[in-house]
Amino acid sequence: MRGFLGHDTVVRTTRILAGVVGGVLLAIGIAVLIMPEVVSTALLSLSTGGAGINSLRADVGALFLGMGVFAMFGAITRYRWLLLVPMVLLGFVVVGRVISMLLYPFPTPTMGALAMELLFMAMLGLALTSHAFSGKEQTRPEAARVLLGRRFLVSAGLVVALVGAGFLFRPQISSLVWSLGAASMLGQSALDDLPDGLHVGLAGTGAPMPDAQRVGISTFVIAGEHLFIVDIGPGGTLNLELMRVPLEDTTAVLLTHFHSDHIGDLDELMLKIWTHGARTEPTLVMGPVGVETVVDGYNQAFSLDAGYRIAHHGDAVAPASGAGGRAEVIDGFGADESVVIFDQGGVTVTAFLVSHAPVDPALGFRFDYGGRSVVLSGDTIPDETLMAQSQGVDLLVHDAMNPDMLNVMTRASESRDEPVAGAVATDIQTYHAFAEETARIARDAGVQHLVLNQILPPLPASILHPGFLGDAHRIFGGPITLSYDGMLFSLPSGSDDIDGQWLLR
Ligand SMILES: [Zn+2]
Ligand SMILES: [Zn+2]
Repeated sequence: MRGFLGHDTVVRTTRILAGVVGGVLLAIGIAVLIMPEVVSTALLSLSTGGAGINSLRADVGALFLGMGVFAMFGAITRYRWLLLVPMVLLGFVVVGRVISMLLYPFPTPTMGALAMELLFMAMLGLALTSHAFSGKEQTRPEAARVLLGRRFLVSAGLVVALVGAGFLFRPQISSLVWSLGAASMLGQSALDDLPDGLHVGLAGTGAPMPDAQRVGISTFVIAGEHLFIVDIGPGGTLNLELMRVPLEDTTAVLLTHFHSDHIGDLDELMLKIWTHGARTEPTLVMGPVGVETVVDGYNQAFSLDAGYRIAHHGDAVAPASGAGGRAEVIDGFGADESVVIFDQGGVTVTAFLVSHAPVDPALGFRFDYGGRSVVLSGDTIPDETLMAQSQGVDLLVHDAMNPDMLNVMTRASESRDEPVAGAVATDIQTYHAFAEETARIARDAGVQHLVLNQILPPLPASILHPGFLGDAHRIFGGPITLSYDGMLFSLPSGSDDIDGQWLLR
């Protein structure tokens, strides 16, 4: 190693690099203690939503794997002092818990975890000290000297001082975070920089059964200069806003059918489209026969609210002429059970009939722009018309359920004497497609990428994904995405690419 780069230089450089890594990790750790939500969303992408799974697995996994590996090595090798590593890490875990309990006295279900962590620390400490005093530990004097040495104590004191300073200056940090965060809340949307093409955003991917990670069904499609919102289930408007969709630019709201999980948030959506852009025309809502009943009903129910908004904000925000919605019935289907409902600026939107009996008519939609194409199935069992419309499309978004999983729910609810829940789990199987059936459709239609939404039953953990998909991957060779709220698929014009990004965490 002697020569151009001396051995000493290498040792010194690598030590400095290790120190830098340690410093960065330490800074993140201290920041997590002071402002956990800011760091976890801005830096670690930690959340319980779909986008957070990656970091949850990586970061929290690393903490426990690291503690476990060092505890095992400390236990089975003669380097017992390695047990200090998990002990110190557990110590920081306990510090984090205690800080949270002091800052938020509202009871959180973490007492059991805290007790377990303290117990583990005690067990590791016992193993460490018993070994140290057994006389077998050759390196004890060295380790003890290091731990009680000036360098270690000064570093430890520095960490404590930094954490203390962080808490001392919480009001100032709070103002700084708000001044930076407030600007970004009003800042540019991720959608402003999208390339010309077709873009499909999943604002809601769940079904009526409650799912903590998926709200009611809602999808937005940006096609060239136009924005369409297809269905608006409960919670959909909030997610559209969190995804920074420019609702004021909505060309039309399209409804596939009138099940509550597809229209339950229409009132809120129409209000936001109106007031975000001070629009002077009511929101155009297109759907099958019956759409007038839905829109008129919402208009009436929210006429008082509209009056308050007009009186309070005036024309600058809420011009009276823009309140509510204007219904337009989709009909005139041809022999192939489809009809073009929009054809402007190179954007074609086709509505077609699907099979969702006793709901009739129920629609699916196909979007074409810039040589790219997308089909949204709406709610349907495997359907010939949908198959014809999906020939060679880039992206097929299809509703999907797993009957075996639902049958397990039915049996569980029957054994618990809750027959209604069981009956629902059985009934819904007659009007949705099975995950494996959607794979067959994607294969036979030559679809590039299959996206499954309106997931039934709810899948609260990603370990359930393989069970839900069954043989789908064997049937369809292309990519299959099990959807989460917040996903955006981008299909740039004149290319074959399908790019993905998260607009929600
Ligand atoms: Zn339905
Ligand atoms: Zn539905």
